[in-house]
Amino acid sequence: MRTPIVAGNWKMYKTVAEAVKYVHELRAMVPDVTGVQVVLAPTFTALHPVAEAARGSRIAIAAQDVHWEREGAFTGEVSATMAREAGAEYAIVGHSERRTLFGENDASVNRKVSAVFAAGMTPIACIGETLDQRERNETFDVLDQQITKGFDGLTTDQVGRLVIAYEPVWAIGTGRNATPQQASEAHGHIRTRLRQWFGAEAAAQCRILYGGSVKPGNMAELAGQPDVDGALVGGASLDPRGFYEIVSRSRPTAV
Ligand code: PEP
Repeated sequence: MRTPIVAGNWKMYKTVAEAVKYVHELRAMVPDVTGVQVVLAPTFTALHPVAEAARGSRIAIAAQDVHWEREGAFTGEVSATMAREAGAEYAIVGHSERRTLFGENDASVNRKVSAVFAAGMTPIACIGETLDQRERNETFDVLDQQITKGFDGLTTDQVGRLVIAYEPVWAIGTGRNATPQQASEAHGHIRTRLRQWFGAEAAAQCRILYGGSVKPGNMAELAGQPDVDGALVGGASLDPRGFYEIVSRSRPTAV
């Protein structure tokens, strides 16, 4: 049984005060939701205060990005080790906004995934096709490339612990989510490739989240797809009540 994860990516929203207030509100709601790992990804400045506010609750913390080196002359960057020290257990890597706006690619994703594992954390690695690529029927080829290059060199054990977020770029922040059938096809394809390239056990253990305009109204149907193990949620995670409703509509997936 894979425990689903519902992760909220706050992007560049919420001051420290707003973030801590949110956690107090959410932690009062989540105790009745069992069998789901709840994760919040605040900005770097709010990482430690949010981790402290969530201490002792069922909420884990993620960094939104990390650098692949432990330390060094990389102005403006934060390493996985530093994020871990601040209280993060997960780190999002390769988000499409990082790829589109900040020049990230599969090679940098690969280095970051390894760095996150080396820091004793769990990567949430984002993959997904653009609208052009989908319309040219290249979705599976794009996913194959992102998997082969992004996860090259990982051990089967690491792939089993990896969290992949399938986020079709055309669905992020657009209000246009993938249909359950589109999500199911893509997730099924990803798991098939993991099985072929990393073995049955790793493929069965790896959690594959869906991301792209998830809301309380579409979570249950998406979560009902066999290879969907939860969600990475952007905009709809900014309100604690709405995020709680998404969390409460996800449910365990049988292997
Ligand atoms: C995201 O940023 O990962 C995301 C899925 O955003 P949204 O839910 O707003 O589409």
